Amino acid sequence: MTNFYDRYPFFAQFEPEAYAGYSQEMVDRLNQWDLKVYMDSVSQAALDIAAGKDVPMHQTQYLTLEESYAMVDTFGEEILVVPCNCKAMGRCTEKPVDVCMGRLEEGPNTFADRKLGRRISPAEAKELILQANKKGLMQSGENQWLCNCDGVYCYPTKMARILKTRLGYPASHYEILRDPAVCVQCGKCARICNHKAFYQDGQGKIVYDAEKCWGCTICAPNCPKGAITLKKREHLS
Ligand code: SF4
Ligand code: SF4
Ligand code: SF4
Repeated sequence: MTNFYDRYPFFAQFEPEAYAGYSQEMVDRLNQWDLKVYMDSVSQAALDIAAGKDVPMHQTQYLTLEESYAMVDTFGEEILVVPCNCKAMGRCTEKPVDVCMGRLEEGPNTFADRKLGRRISPAEAKELILQANKKGLMQSGENQWLCNCDGVYCYPTKMARILKTRLGYPASHYEILRDPAVCVQCGKCARICNHKAFYQDGQGKIVYDAEKCWGCTICAPNCPKGAITLKKREHLS
């Protein structure tokens, strides 16, 4: 038995042709309702994590590419990939959707048991993460699950904006340093940042505002000149 809240993401993820038949107004209303139910159940956990408590939760922290690859190495030889439920529910077309991955669990009512998702190797998983990173998706995760989140459809990100838990939930372990002597003002960081921390000012110059930065780290590997580096935050492990 299940309820509509639990069933809805699976419908959007795995029956996209049927979900495509819904009107945009219906999808918007469903997403609004779903975000409210989601926040009613997990807001307190997100606030606790932002306050430094060790609470089980999803998307607890942003990961660098290297940290993401290290997490993949803990998943085993067969990795499960499923469509991102946040992007599927929002019918995202701008970014890759088939990007959520984790350890392949088998047993009653698992994705594998229900024949949902696909199995890939660790090398394929790392390549998928790299391509997602290049397309502006932010790696996050914990334990046995890794997400590639965007800034529009991602429920944890939407919730974190409402709760104002920047840097605490999802926890950021790095701050961004930009070397103006190396930067060539190409604007790639401004195009890739989901939080508008890099942006073009009125004079057309690319500027960085640390107060808007969520420390997701994706701008660093995507800067073609290596002008952006990461510095470990001192107050977080
Ligand atoms: S947390 Fe991120 S990757 Fe995971 S389902 Fe939501 S948007 Fe997708
Ligand atoms: S991507 Fe790098 S080189 Fe381009 S504007 Fe940003 S910091 Fe400068
Ligand atoms: S500026 Fe901050 S929020 Fe934007 S991509 Fe870089 S680390 Fe992420």
